[in-house]
Amino acid sequence: VPATDEGERTAYGVVPAGLPEVVATPLVPTCDGRRVEYANFDHGASTPALAHVVSAVERATATYSSVHRGQGWTSQVSSHYYEAAREEVARFVGAREGDEVVFTRNTTDSFNMLARALPRRTQVIVFATEHHATLLPWEERRTTRLPVPLTHTDAEALLRDALKRSTSSSILVVLSGASNVTGEYWRVGRLAAIARARGARVALDAAQLVGHRRVDLETLGVDYVAFSGHKIYAPYGAGVLVGRADWLDKAAPYLAGGGATAAVGALSTTWKTGPARHEGGTPNVLGAVALAAACATIREHRGAIESHERAVTERLVDGLRAIEGVETFSIFGDDADRAPVVTFTVDGIESSLVSAALSAEHGIGVRDGKFCAHLLVDTLLSDEEASVTTAVRVSAGLATTHEHVERLLAAVASLAADGP
Ligand code: PLP
Repeated sequence: VPATDEGERTAYGVVPAGLPEVVATPLVPTCDGRRVEYANFDHGASTPALAHVVSAVERATATYSSVHRGQGWTSQVSSHYYEAAREEVARFVGAREGDEVVFTRNTTDSFNMLARALPRRTQVIVFATEHHATLLPWEERRTTRLPVPLTHTDAEALLRDALKRSTSSSILVVLSGASNVTGEYWRVGRLAAIARARGARVALDAAQLVGHRRVDLETLGVDYVAFSGHKIYAPYGAGVLVGRADWLDKAAPYLAGGGATAAVGALSTTWKTGPARHEGGTPNVLGAVALAAACATIREHRGAIESHERAVTERLVDGLRAIEGVETFSIFGDDADRAPVVTFTVDGIESSLVSAALSAEHGIGVRDGKFCAHLLVDTLLSDEEASVTTAVRVSAGLATTHEHVERLLAAVASLAADGP
């Protein structure tokens, strides 16, 4: 890593100063024969790669070799990159002494791993608002599903009540940091304190949070956190589960195989403890490097990212709400502080048609449907005299410019007024 004054030196190269750059936005065709700069309003699904992530992966690719399996120079370098990635992730979420950082494929994988590691008879408490990755992995466990709350205070009361009624000595409360449907932040610290007072553990789905707000396990009072690289400007295929080691170290290995074993005898196998126990097989080193480079970049640029996103989100929310025939949705009705995610419907027009028209006519990418959160979207839409059964989601990020926002607002206003 060359020394330079241009930014912070990390294990993944120099993080440049200023708002971090993402890869170039492509020009895309529209149905009237133009080519326009792609307006990416689908950051909530997957983000474009950070330029710094691309260079970190290129650098690690140059010394590509086996990891934890050889004394050769390139093997040592690859192993170093992999473990440095683990350290960066630990720093990024404020992991405590003794916490484990296990690399997974994504958030879904992380929660499935945690579900298999729970001590028998653990009761899981989860809100119906969750993304399916966070709602469903516990189905084979004793699970209490709390209804969609009306306010933050209601969420606290629902949790308190469920904890009071539980007779279990081992409880896991699963929470989201930010809703992938409404962008609203949950009051994680307060909910975690309620859970802790009852002796329960807390797992946090930070998939929609870590790209926008700092997460600190100690401050939040959270025991486990999961997130995905592809939502924080790294490519697909790498995620993490970070948290308390004890349950993980006692659980059966998530992926039984080479690398997870301490000793294999004819009649019995002894498994390692620590992250290796659950990372059987050759790990996704480049995915881990990419994810860690994204963490280092975001950590270094928090302030600039937050102010860019705040400006974009304010204009998006105000602009969409001002359009006649457009309905935006919120869980708590108190969405001043939120991630750059807004879900809406256009009166009388199916959301898939809105989404298709935005893409074909304006070069704008959004998402439509129920966003893997069917229970929440059904509840939100049933509250209104909705003429449609699915919604449109716009989610902004580092590739979003003010021109994109104005183009989106004008396009939605024209659809609402004249139809597709
Ligand atoms: N949790 C939330 C809040 C999400 O938005 C998503 C993805 O959209 C997930 C979990 C699942 O992430 P992944 O598909 O990377 O497993």
